[in-house]
Amino acid sequence: MPHGLQATNLHKHFGAIQALNGLSLAVEPGQLIGFLGPNGAGKTTTMRAIVGLTSVDDGSITWNNTPVTTEDRKRIGYMPQDRGLYPRMKVHEHITFIGRLAGLAPNIADRRAEQWCERVGLSDRSDDLIQELSTGNQQRVQLAVALVHEPELLILDEPFAGLDPVAVSMLSDVMHEQVARGTSVIFSSHQLDLVQDLTEQVTIVANGTTQATGHVTELRERSPVRKLRIDWREPAPDWRPDGATRIETGTPSLATHTTTFELPADADPAALIAQASTHGAIASVTYEPPPLSDVFLGLVGEPIGSAT
Ligand code: ATP
Repeated sequence: MPHGLQATNLHKHFGAIQALNGLSLAVEPGQLIGFLGPNGAGKTTTMRAIVGLTSVDDGSITWNNTPVTTEDRKRIGYMPQDRGLYPRMKVHEHITFIGRLAGLAPNIADRRAEQWCERVGLSDRSDDLIQELSTGNQQRVQLAVALVHEPELLILDEPFAGLDPVAVSMLSDVMHEQVARGTSVIFSSHQLDLVQDLTEQVTIVANGTTQATGHVTELRERSPVRKLRIDWREPAPDWRPDGATRIETGTPSLATHTTTFELPADADPAALIAQASTHGAIASVTYEPPPLSDVFLGLVGEPIGSAT
């Protein structure tokens, strides 16, 4: 039996809106799952259902194979999309307060608050009121609040939105540290390049239903196409492999040193590169499946009515 969190076949409607329509999501201990989907796909509703902030009409949510209880929920850390901090509390005081609510002894809550202020880069702001912080810094506090009680399951709803590059790097490191200590981590994000760099495991949802779940590499390799990018030492020759589509990456009227082609997945890259080299001097070549963003669009991004 799998350990960790299993949300299975969730259904939820708000009046006439079917927010969840059979959505399933699972995360094992020490696993980092990117939870992806277009606006309105049902990600926040799923996360809120897991932490007990909303009920579902049907489906099950289990932790280590038994239904999630109120007691289990104390072992969850949640960073909501809409920040939920008390604006008139001070940073250190707020983190301590949440630690106490989660059952930590006063001295431990105090020590952890200090450690987390340091870890999220807010040591020098620890006595400032939350309302005096920028949005990004409030998000750092929200991360500390989600982690102060060392949860076994960490749920982060759009944690990267609005963060500067230093904070993005800090948050990425914190997420990997959590995974290394065995925490199950689920995070939603619309920044697919970032997701691809951060994790190997994703669940893609749309219209309240799970569209795909698995390793990013496998999902990319399932694509029927490959991308061949050639950087030439001189302006690119007017050459195109048989059966390929040339993808324009720059201003067509300008001489460019790079050409990118889309090819069927069963094309022979070595033969193509050999053929290319007879048309010009090659500086470098990449041949790979499309990025996660293309896989995502292929699964959920078909404009309505585009089918012929
Ligand atoms: P986003 O990427 O925009 O944050 P999401 O995937 O998190 O989207 P949800 O917030 O879960 O999507 O919303 C799923 C659907 O449920 C949407 O159609 C939304 O309008 C609807 N919905 C969510 N919460 C409520 C609510 N409290 N009342 C009515 N409808 C709601």
